[in-house]
Amino acid sequence: MRIDLDANATTPVLPEVLGAIQPFWLERYGNPSSAHMSGQRTRGAVEHARIAVASLLHCSPKEIVFTSGGTESDNLALSGILQPFLDRHEPAHLITTQIEHHAILFAAESLERRGIEVTYLAPDHNGVINPADVEAALRPHTKLVSVMLANNETGAIQPVGKIARIAKAHGAIVHTDAVQAASKLPLDLSGEFKNVDLLSISGHKIYAPQGTGALFVRQGVELAPLFHGGPHERQRRAGTENVPGIVGLGRAAELALAWLEGQDHQLVSKMPVAPIPGSQSPAELTARRNHFEQRLLALIPGACINCAGAPRISNTIHLRVDGIDAEALVIALDLQGISTSFGSACMSGTAEPSHVLVAMGLTPEQAHSSLRISLSRLTTDEEIERALEIIPAAVARLRKLSGSLLAANPV
Ligand code: PLP
Repeated sequence: MRIDLDANATTPVLPEVLGAIQPFWLERYGNPSSAHMSGQRTRGAVEHARIAVASLLHCSPKEIVFTSGGTESDNLALSGILQPFLDRHEPAHLITTQIEHHAILFAAESLERRGIEVTYLAPDHNGVINPADVEAALRPHTKLVSVMLANNETGAIQPVGKIARIAKAHGAIVHTDAVQAASKLPLDLSGEFKNVDLLSISGHKIYAPQGTGALFVRQGVELAPLFHGGPHERQRRAGTENVPGIVGLGRAAELALAWLEGQDHQLVSKMPVAPIPGSQSPAELTARRNHFEQRLLALIPGACINCAGAPRISNTIHLRVDGIDAEALVIALDLQGISTSFGSACMSGTAEPSHVLVAMGLTPEQAHSSLRISLSRLTTDEEIERALEIIPAAVARLRKLSGSLLAANPV
């Protein structure tokens, strides 16, 4: 059996999520916009899922727009707020960061090419954005501030609550990409994140199918749609809904809330939650990750953890072993049945060092020596113990190999 230590790239669909989805492929396939009974039954399921996602985020169901995933949610947020300024030829300024996922960075660059001013803030050496830097970057025409909640590579949690307070006081709209934070951290849009106006989530990071997601749009925030067509999703996202995907996202959101809040949590669907083989709570997952991390540091001489000084999501380890080519290590581990990652999933295969690590001040060599290990809720102690046998041995082999290559070809 392979050991999946790449949960930040994607997560499996939980059996209960699959069970909830299946009838919507086979029997309950009505179009939710149809007036007949089979359409209206499907509409009911979509609205039920909307309530479940809203419960996870502590917002109103009316504020949830279903999308095809994190990338679409991010693009809809940025373009939806800023395109109207371009259309009216009014100046507008966006503040974002150098550590965002490319779904934000490339969307920002596209807006920049069309005339939006963009500031890309740098993090500190722990990969964290300083709210004072956001404050200093604000201009009279700053219309949008977009800062991710948890970084997909390092796991570093950003002070989005504080940043949102500052930006809001200035009158800017606030977006956060919570794709890696959702289901790992409690997300309260009525409390800690009450100043956040837009928030992106993705289904396949929370044990729902790939190609599903949502954007939270706070009531009163005007958003220009990306797609033109029918009046779906309250005119904010045209196109017949991906009903099975939405139902899966809803069930995954319910399970995530139950996992975050404890098993006695009252589920929207009132359907029970079966225990899973891995971590039953965030505390259990954090303990597993911490044990794994400590053992890796003990077993691999010279290893360190990137962003160790930052608050981090409970599943991520960003391991650096100077002198080791992390891509070679990822391949060596893959051959032994372990999935890990070098950079983010969508950028693997490129020779460029990670933009996130470079922004934190790591040299390209240090960035190339960094490996992402990300646990899922399903990761077991047995898998971690097996990985603790394989990873240090693979590092030792690569070190030996590069030592003999160096001896054969001295520089
Ligand atoms: N934002 C972050 C932080 C991500 O990690 C990802 C995916 O890795 C995305 C956005 C894109 O999400 P999706 O794959 O659902 O398009």
